[in-house]
Amino acid sequence: MSLIVQKFGGSSVADAESIKRVAKRIVETRKAGNDVVVAVSAMGDSTDELLDLANEVTPIQAPRELDMLLSAGERISMALLAMAIKSMGHDARSFTGSQAGMITDATHGAARIVDVTPVRLREALDDGAIVIVAGFQGFSRESRDITTLGRGGSDTTAVALAAALEADVCEIYTDVDGVYTADPRVVKRAHKLGRVTSEEMLELAASGAKVLHIRAVEYARRHGVTLHVRSSFNNTEGTVVYDPSRAPEGAEVEESVIAGVAVDLSEAKITVVGVPDKPGVAAKIFKIVAATNANVDVIVQNVSAAATGKTDISFTLPKADGEKALTALAGAQEAIGFGSLQYDDQIGKLSIVGNAMRNASGVSAKLFEALYEAGINIEMISTSEIRISVVTRADSVNQAAIAVHTAFGLDAAEDAVVHAGTGR
Ligand code: ADP
Ligand code: ASP
Ligand code: MG
Repeated sequence: MSLIVQKFGGSSVADAESIKRVAKRIVETRKAGNDVVVAVSAMGDSTDELLDLANEVTPIQAPRELDMLLSAGERISMALLAMAIKSMGHDARSFTGSQAGMITDATHGAARIVDVTPVRLREALDDGAIVIVAGFQGFSRESRDITTLGRGGSDTTAVALAAALEADVCEIYTDVDGVYTADPRVVKRAHKLGRVTSEEMLELAASGAKVLHIRAVEYARRHGVTLHVRSSFNNTEGTVVYDPSRAPEGAEVEESVIAGVAVDLSEAKITVVGVPDKPGVAAKIFKIVAATNANVDVIVQNVSAAATGKTDISFTLPKADGEKALTALAGAQEAIGFGSLQYDDQIGKLSIVGNAMRNASGVSAKLFEALYEAGINIEMISTSEIRISVVTRADSVNQAAIAVHTAFGLDAAEDAVVHAGTGR
């Protein structure tokens, strides 16, 4: 008998009908003779709706209470899903993250899983029940409070369960047929990848491809869990995210240098204007930013003007971290000795990712050429071994993604199918 972990995202359980459809799918897996453990997300956009509600009550929320609120979304879907399965004549039991033994650190809103003690899940499996676990949430032994794992965190719940229970398969069911060469909502001609390495998937997730939670990919890599991302709306094969060092024989490899293109509209740019061009200044600036726990991404320092000996330093960071970084820097204006600060939240970041970039030449030239031909100005550039990112104006980044996708020969013959979801 195999143990299969299945994760169903919000758009797959958006309403009563969808819940019944998903329940049927789970029951089929059970009937085929498998033990089944399910991680489920909150229905549809209900996490966003809870956030909107909190913002209506107060713009500044206590992190502990916000986690209490948001974790309620998954409680609703897990119970309804268990009811649906029971109505089909199969035993099912739902568990909150804390009941499932999802132990995290105490960081509200972005908790890390530190231990998984699925005692109650094993008992339920031994009793022959289908196990349903609320995704996205855990419990901190340190603070004795409920935590959440960050937006998109139900993927990580599924992977952690698969690792702890030594599952044979971890399937991530969503509203598209797998991992595509770009977000099919942005690039209609994106094509589905048969396989993608966990390293490429990590870079894609870090660059804004929200199809998988980045921590889920990290966790899967660390614990040797192979992921299968697929649609909950049909039975087509999805995308296998695998570790090449553990790749099955004869794993087919894509021909293209680029595995995919990702777009990120969640960052802003801060420019520190008129910084003295001397040793230690960058250290001072980024120490102050680091103390706010802001997550700095792309950094660019201009050449200094010979006449003044001053330069500008720009960096990007999540919009959510913008305010605190600005406040901290403003407070240190004299100590650092800069002229002024600029804040720009109308930027977009486009990234291309591919393992084969390591050994290929001319990739950046091709990228820049494609952007030039599309009339798009590049404001910042950053690279890793397998990724090149450029910062552009927010309103041209989608058009940039379409152009770059075509330039690298990634376009499919037909438009990709998006089965559900609002893309929110
Ligand atoms: P779920 O609710 O199932 O967790 P998400 O909305 O979190 O679903 O993730 C699926 C969405 O990710 C897709 O609908 C798609 O718009 C988006 N996406 C972004 N980049 C990609 C990509 N490279 N491949 C597939 N989907 C992508
Ligand atoms: N419901 C949570 C969110 O919307 C977690 C998830 O769906 O993975 O972010
Ligand atoms: Mg998701």
